Amino acid sequence: MNGHEAGPGPRFALDSSDRTFLEEVRRKGREALAEVAVRGEEGRVHRPLVEALAREGLLQRLFPEDPSVETPALDLCLMREGLARECAEAELALALQALGAWPIRQSAGAEVRERWIPEVAAGKAVAAFALSEPGAGSDPAGLTLRAERAEGGWRLHGEKTWISNAPEADVYTVFARTSEGRGARGISAFCVPGDSEGLSGEPLSMVAPHPIGRLRFDGVFAPDEALLGEVDEGFKVAMRTLDLLRPSVGAMAVGMASRALDLAVAHAREREAFGRRIREFQAVSHRLAMRWTEIEAARLLVYHAASSYDAGKRPNSRHAAMAKLFATEAAQRAVDDAVQVVGAAALENSHPLSDLYREVRAPRIYEGTSEIQCEILARELFDR
Ligand SMILES: Cc1cc2nc3c(=O)[nH]c(=O)nc-3n(C[C@H](O)[C@H](O)[C@H](O)COP(=O)(O)OP(=O)(O)OC[C@H]3O[C@@H](n4cnc5c(N)ncnc54)[C@H](O)[C@@H]3O)c2cc1C
Repeated sequence: MNGHEAGPGPRFALDSSDRTFLEEVRRKGREALAEVAVRGEEGRVHRPLVEALAREGLLQRLFPEDPSVETPALDLCLMREGLARECAEAELALALQALGAWPIRQSAGAEVRERWIPEVAAGKAVAAFALSEPGAGSDPAGLTLRAERAEGGWRLHGEKTWISNAPEADVYTVFARTSEGRGARGISAFCVPGDSEGLSGEPLSMVAPHPIGRLRFDGVFAPDEALLGEVDEGFKVAMRTLDLLRPSVGAMAVGMASRALDLAVAHAREREAFGRRIREFQAVSHRLAMRWTEIEAARLLVYHAASSYDAGKRPNSRHAAMAKLFATEAAQRAVDDAVQVVGAAALENSHPLSDLYREVRAPRIYEGTSEIQCEILARELFDR
C-alpha cells in the first residue's frame, strides 16, 4: 500500500507524505539526475540517465514488484511535476518508461511481463509506445499497420511514426490492425522486442530535443504470447494507458510552468528599467500573478484526476482530459509570459527559458491534442 490506492477519494491538497515525496523528487532531479542528464546526446535515448532513474528508486515506484499492486497515478504525477521543474531530460525518460511499459505490465501474460518489467524497472531496458502512424494521429482507430495470422503467432507489416524512444527502444508496445473494417474494435496490442527481425527505423529531429523516430515493420513475427490483452481489444489497452498517463502530462506541464514562473519572478525582482525594478510595473507583476493562479488551478485539476484514478474511478476520461487540457495550455501561457518578462536574455540559447519555450509546445499535441481533449469533454457534456 502506498497511501493512494484506497482512502476517501479525491482530495484537495497533498498530504504531508506526498509533499515530502515531491520535495525528495525535486532534490534527486537537482542533485543526482541533472549532472547525468547533461552528458546525453540531444534527441537520443540516454541510457545512463534511465539507469540513474532506477538508482534513485523512481522507476521501481512506477512498477511495484508485486504485479497485483497498481501503478499509483498520484506518485507518477508528483514525479513528473518535480522532475520537470528540475531536470526535463530525466522527466522525459521516466515518462517514456511508464508509457511504453505500463501496457505490458497491465496486459501481458506472466512470461512476457516477467521478461520485460523487471528490466524496465531496473533502467536496463528502454520502452516505447507505438500507436501513431503517418495517416493516423488523433484518430488511432484508423491505423493500418496490420497483423496477419502466422503459425504460432502473427506477422506485422506497416509503419509507425513520431514514436518516442524509437528506433532505439529495447521493447515496444505496438498497436496493429487484426480485423479489417472494424475501426477501434479491430485493433490488437503486441509486445515487440526492439531487435526483432524485420523491424527497422530512423530518428526524427524535433523543435525541442526528444528521442523520437519512425519504425518500419516488414513481416515482424510476434508469437501468440506477445499479444497484450485479447485479440481486437487493443484499443482498450491504449485508452487505459492514456487514462493513467494523461493527468501526468498535466503534472509535467505544471512543473515546466512553475520553473518558468520562478525564473520570471527572480528576474523581475532584480531587473531595473525607468529607474525602478520591473516588478513594480503592474503590466509585469499582474501578468505573473495571473499565470501563478492558472498554475495552481492546473495543479489542483491534476491532483484531483490522479487521486480519483487511485481511488478506483476508471475510466477517468473527464478528469484526465480536463487536467491535460488546462495544464498544457496554461503552461504554454506561463512560459510565453516568462519569456516576455525576461526579454531578450530569455531567447539566448543558453537561457533555460529558451529550452522551456521549445519544450512546452509538444504536450499540447501528444497523447491527444487539446482539441481531442475538448472533443472528449464536449461529448460527455452534451450526452449527460
Ligand atoms: C514530441 C512528440 C512525441 C510523441 N510521442 C508519441 C509516442 O511515443 N507514441 C505515439 O504513438 N505517438 C506519439 N506522438 C504522436 C502524437 O500522439 C500525435 O502527433 C497526436 O496524436 C496528433 O496526431 P497528428 O500529429 O497526426 O495530428 P492530426 O491528427 O493530423 O491533427 C491535426 C489537427 O487537427 C485537429 N483535429 C483532428 N481531429 C479533430 C477533431 N475530431 N476535432 C477537432 N480537431 C481535430 C488536431 O487537434 C490538430 O490540431 C508524439 C508526438 C510528438 C509531437
